[in-house]
Amino acid sequence: MITITDIRQAHENISAVIHNTPVITSKQLDEMSGNQVFLKSEHLQKTGSFKIRGATNKVKAAVTSGAAFITAASSGNHGQAVAYIANQLGIKARIVVPEDAAASKVSAIKAYNGEIEYCGRTSAERLPRAKELAEKHGGVFIPPYDDPLVIAGQGTVGLEIMEQVKGADIVLVPVGGGGLISGIATAVKAINPAVKVIGIEPELADDTYRSLQAGKLIAIGPTETIADGLRSSQPGDLTFPVIQKYVDDLVLVSESEIRQAQQFIMERMKQVVEPSGAVTTAAVMHHKLHVKHKRIVCVVSGGNIDLSQLANLLPLSV
Ligand SMILES: *Cc1c(COP(=O)(O)O)cnc(C)c1O
Repeated sequence: MITITDIRQAHENISAVIHNTPVITSKQLDEMSGNQVFLKSEHLQKTGSFKIRGATNKVKAAVTSGAAFITAASSGNHGQAVAYIANQLGIKARIVVPEDAAASKVSAIKAYNGEIEYCGRTSAERLPRAKELAEKHGGVFIPPYDDPLVIAGQGTVGLEIMEQVKGADIVLVPVGGGGLISGIATAVKAINPAVKVIGIEPELADDTYRSLQAGKLIAIGPTETIADGLRSSQPGDLTFPVIQKYVDDLVLVSESEIRQAQQFIMERMKQVVEPSGAVTTAAVMHHKLHVKHKRIVCVVSGGNIDLSQLANLLPLSV
């Protein structure tokens, strides 16, 4: 397992590339929730999500070790982050995306000079292809979450939160494969074990919730949750033990709660956030924690949305 020393090292490695993102508040949200709520705004991060933190830490190490090029298997935020940092560091990135990847996502990767390779429709097809490409030609494969350097990079969000929100009681973190929450929980618990770290998943993608209940990895089938960054089928081999050790609770939110939170943040707080980034705010808006008068940090993990799909995502009224 990684330690806070790895996370502090990661922060040093990546600080010239990433933004220390702001924490924003809303009186209306505080009143609705009955708590003081702080949004750690990773939708304002470079490339539009926190994924650039782990990707930068890992790609820098790959470049130092003499990698010829970089591969990744993701048309989403991870693919964009890897393409961006590879371009910054002057190394080629080949990103393996599904045959039906949205044109807007493919063009975002191309805008960072990432090379695109289409492969199948499932991650079960893409992942081995990206790994094989790397192995055969002297490249390095960059995993989206199940990697010590990636987890340490994501954990830098936790370091910043502990500096920015003095006296925080609870930190809420969206959970996909678990890289973000395992890094943040490692940092937060090392600095102050009294601060609670709680994971938030969509009801439709509750693999980590089920795995924690069962005490072992449980895989779920394909899911259509609008929170597309949280659709992983099971927690990672490396992330799950960290989640078991440090995460205090896991809470589920419905699709309509996610939509309402996304709409609230956009309409009232004037911030563009994606559904995956809105799940933590959904939990405080809908009283999922059963607490009052606490200082709660919601990690807003990303803001990449396809504007043409926005009208479909949002409910008609809150
Ligand atoms: C990847 C991602 C997540 C989930 O992160 P994991 O490390 O896989 O748990 C959450 N939100 C956004 C916006 C993401 O891109």
